[in-house]
Amino acid sequence: MVRRALFIGRFQPPHKGHLEVFKGILKEADELIVGIGSAQESHTLENPFTAGERMLMLGRALAEEGIETSRVHIVPIPDVNNNALWVSHVLSYSPPFSVVYTGNPLVRRLFREAGYEVRTFPLYNRKDYMGTKIRERMVRGKKWEHLVPPAVVKVVEEIDGVGRMRDLSQSDRLLGPRKTGT
Ligand code: NAD
Repeated sequence: MVRRALFIGRFQPPHKGHLEVFKGILKEADELIVGIGSAQESHTLENPFTAGERMLMLGRALAEEGIETSRVHIVPIPDVNNNALWVSHVLSYSPPFSVVYTGNPLVRRLFREAGYEVRTFPLYNRKDYMGTKIRERMVRGKKWEHLVPPAVVKVVEEIDGVGRMRDLSQSDRLLGPRKTGT
């Protein structure tokens, strides 16, 4: 029987830590399902890239590593407003799987409660390989390219991803601090 593993993330953007996890999972499982979480989100500072753009980044980064495309399935998964229903929602979008890999405590909890085997990988260079920090560097004009696979750099350039983030950060600033008590 094919042993298929699920790994869900927002991948805003995919970074070298994610890629290490993909390679590790493919040593333990026959096939990997990469679930693109919060697929409905885009054009915000926390979730700047669309599901389609993230799909392109992931597909190209995996191909660049020489990972057989027949072993990987990339599936966009929108959020639902009910954590108790989320696992069955994921099942309705994804090819069947028997094991889940995650470092996210809520994802771990929900799949364990649903009876799935859940495994964890170590965090690779979490100091640098972290979506929040990479997005912050993009906005502040600091070097970020070395933290993501080269294929991701190319997609971000193609879609003017850094320009998009700077515009978003400007519109946030124009709104000014929120007033309270009025
Ligand atoms: P993420 O992209 O931040 O992280 C994805 C995974 O990568 C996590 O398991 C994380 O531990 C791992 N990771 C991050 N940096 C790493 C590193 N340096 N080395 C190794 N591993 C690293 O995405 P996330 O926010 O964890 O994604 C979870 C998704 O599931 C979100 O989209 C969330 O909205 C969704 N979700 C939705 C519901 C709902 O709709 N009710 C409920 C639970 C989760």
